Amino acid sequence: MAQSEFVFAPLGGIGEIGMNLSIYGFGDERRRQWLIVDCGVSFASEEQLPGIDLIMPDIRYLVEERKNVVGLVLTHGHEDHMGALIDLWPRLDNVPLYATPFTAALFEAKRLGEPGAPQIPINVVPLRGRLTLGPFDVEFISVAHSIPESNALAIRTAAGTALHTGDWKIDPTPLTGSKTDAERLATLGAEGVLALIGDSTNAVRDGRSPSEAAVAKTIAELVRTAPARVAVTTFASHVDRIRAVADAARAAGREVVVVGRAMERVVQVARETGYLDGVQEFRGADTYGYLPPDRVLALCTGSQGEPRAALARIAEDEHPDVALSKGDRVIFSSRAIPGNEKAVDRVINGLVAQGVEVITDRTHLVHVSGHPRRAELLDMIGWVKPQILIPAHGEALHLAEHAELARRASVPQVVVCRNGDLVRLAPGPAQIIDQIPSGRLYKDGILLINAEARTVASRRRMSFSGAVSVALALTDQGALAADPEIELFGIPEADASGASIADIARDAIEEAFESMPKPRRRDPDAVAEAVRRAVRSAIAQRWNKKPICHVHVLEV
Ligand SMILES: [Zn+2]
Ligand SMILES: [Zn+2]
Repeated sequence: MAQSEFVFAPLGGIGEIGMNLSIYGFGDERRRQWLIVDCGVSFASEEQLPGIDLIMPDIRYLVEERKNVVGLVLTHGHEDHMGALIDLWPRLDNVPLYATPFTAALFEAKRLGEPGAPQIPINVVPLRGRLTLGPFDVEFISVAHSIPESNALAIRTAAGTALHTGDWKIDPTPLTGSKTDAERLATLGAEGVLALIGDSTNAVRDGRSPSEAAVAKTIAELVRTAPARVAVTTFASHVDRIRAVADAARAAGREVVVVGRAMERVVQVARETGYLDGVQEFRGADTYGYLPPDRVLALCTGSQGEPRAALARIAEDEHPDVALSKGDRVIFSSRAIPGNEKAVDRVINGLVAQGVEVITDRTHLVHVSGHPRRAELLDMIGWVKPQILIPAHGEALHLAEHAELARRASVPQVVVCRNGDLVRLAPGPAQIIDQIPSGRLYKDGILLINAEARTVASRRRMSFSGAVSVALALTDQGALAADPEIELFGIPEADASGASIADIARDAIEEAFESMPKPRRRDPDAVAEAVRRAVRSAIAQRWNKKPICHVHVLEV
């Protein structure tokens, strides 16, 4: 019998920030059992992918292998780790899900907020819990992060143990969530760790991340000294930050008004799960207008510049309950996720134009990342002492820096892989042994489409250079029965000399048609192709852009 192998494969989250989904396999080549870790999304930018909001990993391989999948474990409740679950779980035919209490409650609240979402049961695992799933023994180890209950997973098999760090940092003084359980990690290291699959997000940054306590202090000072109204925006799921804001408001004699659905949802989940114990009650947005300016603090969604979120609407002066004006202060207790910078700047400019003072992390310690910097990465390597290190959760640069750091810290084997690589962890030296099908899905309206389909590419072409539609009526004698019908979409009406583009297209059509040999004119496909080329090149001469052209030939 072939020896059982322990393998790892990322289907998303490597070489990119977002859409984390990894699988661990155990067994021989003919039959492996699989454990899925996380099921996240990433956010599309409007310019690159017009009309697409979310990107998720293509899980066709897991759909095929469904009978060998023993479960799906969530490390924590961020969208880049669980945001694809509502869309993808139905394809995985009731695969059992596991998460700690806050993550499970946050997921359930999100699911209830999404019309038409199916029932999705989650098995709740206690903090520091441990469970057996097929050949895998999975232990949850608490780590500090920017949401309560982030977990590293110790995945033990007969061939060795992998530590999947999930998202983590070291914060000796968090306000609400857990500290990183260094003691447990060191115990695991003493037991022996084969592979460390680790968060690389901040591998380019030296030193250590500041603590949430330091951020809380800055926020308290900025709220205390604010002359009039204060609004604070942060990631809705950042409960530590919500607590810091609440404490700052209380110390300054201000009421906290919660503005935005996502923030209301997280506040409710955090209260139910005990993460806001001891924090004063918050008020609804409808009370904002009744409170004096120096007695109110609005806690808003929209730190990423999302156009429909509370802060963007306030910046446009279009929010039904909340308005700001000259002398008020807005604190961005956040940082723009790459790709969102322009949207955030738009909101900031809208506020500044209203005379509002805007404070960001460019000048004040009002935000700190939830990911480990280099000194923290070295601490993790020191605790765990892995034989193999695989950088995960990062773009190419982050992975390379993490790999280099690990080599310098004398980790015996470092494997930099890509989505779809199947890495053998044991037995024998770690190496990429195969490729498994991987890719991306786009959420387009309510459909999931394959990224390789031409849909979005042709939509982007249309958005860049428009389209022209031509209808021709062709007699069986090969003559035009009427003037061609031409419609332009997203194309200028006239060229630089003022000549109508539609007329230019019409002349091109007639010229192309007449220059065809007579017998060819009876072939509708040949006519359509000749006309299409002629129209595109005639428009390109006057515009320097080639539109999409569709020619419809009717035989009459
Ligand atoms: Zn996270
Ligand atoms: Zn993440």
